Amino acid sequence: MNVNILPLLFLVALCVGVWVMMDRRTAVAGASREAPVRHQVSFDQIGGQEHAKRELREALDFLRYRDRIKSLGIRPLKGILLTGPPGTGKTLMAKAAATYTDSVFLAASGSEFVEMYVGVGAQRVRELFRKARQQAKKENKDSAIIFIDEIDVVGGRRGQHSHQEYDQTLNQLLTEMDGMSTTQSPLVLVMAATNRADILDSALLRPGRFDRQIQVDLPDKEGRLHILRIQTAGKPLRRDVSLEHIARETFGFSGAQLEALVNEAAIAALRAGEQQINQEMFRDSVDKVLMGERTGRRPTDDELQRVAVHELGHAIVSELMRPGTVSHITIAPRGNALGFVRQIPEADRYLYTLEQLQEQVNVALGGCLAEEHHYGNRSTGAQNDFVQASSLARTIVVCGLSRIGIVDEEHLPEAVLDTEVRFILAEQERITREILRPYREDIAEFAADIVRDESLDGSAFREWLTKVQTKKSVPSPTSSDVVSVPYVASTELTLQ
Ligand code: ADP
Ligand code: ZN
Ligand code: MG
Repeated sequence: MNVNILPLLFLVALCVGVWVMMDRRTAVAGASREAPVRHQVSFDQIGGQEHAKRELREALDFLRYRDRIKSLGIRPLKGILLTGPPGTGKTLMAKAAATYTDSVFLAASGSEFVEMYVGVGAQRVRELFRKARQQAKKENKDSAIIFIDEIDVVGGRRGQHSHQEYDQTLNQLLTEMDGMSTTQSPLVLVMAATNRADILDSALLRPGRFDRQIQVDLPDKEGRLHILRIQTAGKPLRRDVSLEHIARETFGFSGAQLEALVNEAAIAALRAGEQQINQEMFRDSVDKVLMGERTGRRPTDDELQRVAVHELGHAIVSELMRPGTVSHITIAPRGNALGFVRQIPEADRYLYTLEQLQEQVNVALGGCLAEEHHYGNRSTGAQNDFVQASSLARTIVVCGLSRIGIVDEEHLPEAVLDTEVRFILAEQERITREILRPYREDIAEFAADIVRDESLDGSAFREWLTKVQTKKSVPSPTSSDVVSVPYVASTELTLQ
């Protein structure tokens, strides 16, 4: 499926205020430029990525069992391209590949080749290959792995850059790869990484160049658990820590983000003067990695109350749609957000039905509608919720799930898309308003609790919700009840 689900990942947390990019890219360890790496990385230190690891190992056997390859007359492999989002372990894989094949390892980044002076990049490429051979000879090794990170910087389609420098650098890289001997020691294998395989010059992907492409994806739940196990190995964890739970809560996290999460939790233990890391420290660190540091911003009491009401709106709708999914509600300002609800994704999900998308729109609109119910007006705090809701609505339309049916995204007139998005939003706004109506008088009570405690757990919230539902004999809707709200244009809504 070619559906871009990325916007949906952002629903993991809903916030008031400006949305922070989740992809807080940890600076790429371009560490020791072109210097051989001394400490060894093995495939065991890479969590998840079973598929990518298997494919890579298979490809590397070309280097390990050279004689067999030769006797069968197989063309040796010269280049392997790792594609995938940042922080998923591409650099780690290249290093593990060097260990696995007992090769020397040299790393460089595409951006290092780009200089203002024409010719410098090409010169550096030549130098890199020369150094690789030299280093291998010096260390008495049969092979060298050259790792080029961000290959898209030099490997973008030729003729597209205004600068001739890029072309020369790319040409030099191609020349080096073509000239690489496939019989003489030391053999050189080029590994490259990018998250933009789509923009690479097709010349790079031709046979004899990067003819293996290995996709390195964001880890699924099992992968995240594996990475967490690796990253927490040797760290003192209190008995209450459930890595399973953390893996479930970190949908969309990359390996690098998980590494940062574990590190933050350890720092929290240090700050608290504790000997062990506990579950709460992990929970706070998830927030921190997602949303950024707590800010020193101190909203007024009125604002705090409003943020609490707003977040409670998100939480109620989320819980009604998918029971048990509210992890916690907090009004501690972090990054650009004044508060947020963190949802536990039920399971990693790659496909969405119309109902599920509508539910997410409802959750996104829950914040401002809770404000409306309670105060009779809204605030500017929902701006980013609307961005999210609109993006979900657009997904509904372009995936052919709206009332206008199947569309061709490319030829869909902007005005039609716009009309449909507005229509969906208006419709869901009405539905969400009704979903929240039974709770309008009780919101204030729990909002005050949130203001007092700053952050409340999903379980405390669920207790309150059940209490209100019993008191008012609101049937606690199972998600299917709510979902079955008909998606119709006109008729007034009857929820039940
Ligand atoms: P990429 O090259 O894909 O951007 P890196 O390999 O540089 O990602 O990963 C950065 C850091 O994140 C690693 O040093 C490691 O600590 C952590 N990391 C990323 N992916 C994994 C993984 N699959 N298993 C264990 N740690 C990982
Ligand atoms: Zn919100
Ligand atoms: Mg990297």
